[in-house]
Amino acid sequence: MIKPVDTGTRFTGNFTQQQPIPEAGIEAALRVLRHGRLHRYNVVEGEVAETALLEQEFAAFTGARYCLAVASGGYALSAALRAIGVKPGDKVLTNAFTLAPVPGSIASVCAEPVFVEITDKLALDLDDLSRKIASSGAKVLMLSHMRGHIVDMEALMAICNASGVQVVEDCAHTMGAHWNGTPSGRFGVAGCYSTQTFKHMNSGEGGLLVTDDADLMARATMLSGSYMLYERHLAGAPADTFADIRLDTPNCSGRMDNLRSAILRPQLQILPAQCEAWNERYRRIDAGLANAPGITLIDRDPKEGFVASSHQFLLPEFSQEQVQQVLHRCAARGVELKWFGADQPVGFTSRHDSWRYVKRQDLPQTDRILGGLIDMRLPLTFSLADCDLIAAIIRQEVGAVYQSGR
Ligand SMILES: *Cc1c(COP(=O)(O)O)cnc(C)c1O
Repeated sequence: MIKPVDTGTRFTGNFTQQQPIPEAGIEAALRVLRHGRLHRYNVVEGEVAETALLEQEFAAFTGARYCLAVASGGYALSAALRAIGVKPGDKVLTNAFTLAPVPGSIASVCAEPVFVEITDKLALDLDDLSRKIASSGAKVLMLSHMRGHIVDMEALMAICNASGVQVVEDCAHTMGAHWNGTPSGRFGVAGCYSTQTFKHMNSGEGGLLVTDDADLMARATMLSGSYMLYERHLAGAPADTFADIRLDTPNCSGRMDNLRSAILRPQLQILPAQCEAWNERYRRIDAGLANAPGITLIDRDPKEGFVASSHQFLLPEFSQEQVQQVLHRCAARGVELKWFGADQPVGFTSRHDSWRYVKRQDLPQTDRILGGLIDMRLPLTFSLADCDLIAAIIRQEVGAVYQSGR
């Protein structure tokens, strides 16, 4: 039910305030600080490092055979690309709408991003994917589940398998999510996750890479900087898979440390409950915006087991100026919205044309959708009543601009 609120009511919450680290994480972190063995390979006899345990637990959580913890989500993406053999000059397909570390990971291996259009469900356009596979000859897709929107994974994998395209999944926004019961990150050859502060687990910075492919895991482990200590991993590739590659794979240091692993392990324990809490908030916002004049909500497939740590909606009929008015009016009432259609990026970049190190590509459908795409974070520090108030404010302000434009 939508409760009316006074047009003077302001929201006073903070859209970038995450929850504190669970007490168990703080205690585990203090134990690591007290013994001082922060480096993942620094263990005393009989000790198993927090990082090795985190990898073992995250592998079990996703059902993957192998897991490697690294310095960031972006590092996991570039390590995956390098480990599957992407070479300088190779073409790599990716979403035209994603966060900057995704095209950045492709650039970091000196490969060339080929952007694929998105649909108004904010997921990859599979028709355009087929066209771009044919026209580019690319053999790798870096699939970004941007803002947690998951494309029909069975259809996507059928297209990619038929044309010999390997899929690396960017699961920065889908940790804990699934498509039709299969965890996000388990369709492609590798799944990459971020534990940066604004993702589903928070260690400040950090990343995780999962795969069932032993050779890929062995290469990624060497790349991360395991020296010759890879046998200390609990979810690592078998020792014999290192025999051929250990002296041929460069060390591009990007390890996870035991302090961050200690902070993350208790968060993994509560992740399913956290995912439920995000979705509860998302549904409250969706309900509050349902049938609001001017607003189109994002249609979600029943097979999409999403985790909505953010909310998006479209203002398809609004001019740029009207969108600006909505942003200003909402901001004046304490509701901070992001707009992906602005000419100049503010605070972040998510559009293909903001990445000028990539040759300019024509993506009219993505440009049209981003022109009316509004986004907000839903930190778990927001109560359900906060979500009701946020939705009511947006509804009023969008409504006011919509009315005045008629
Ligand atoms: C945050 C993010 C990443 C990786 O982030 P890091 O800051 O490198 O951990 C990758 N893809 C998307 C879509 C993201 O939002």
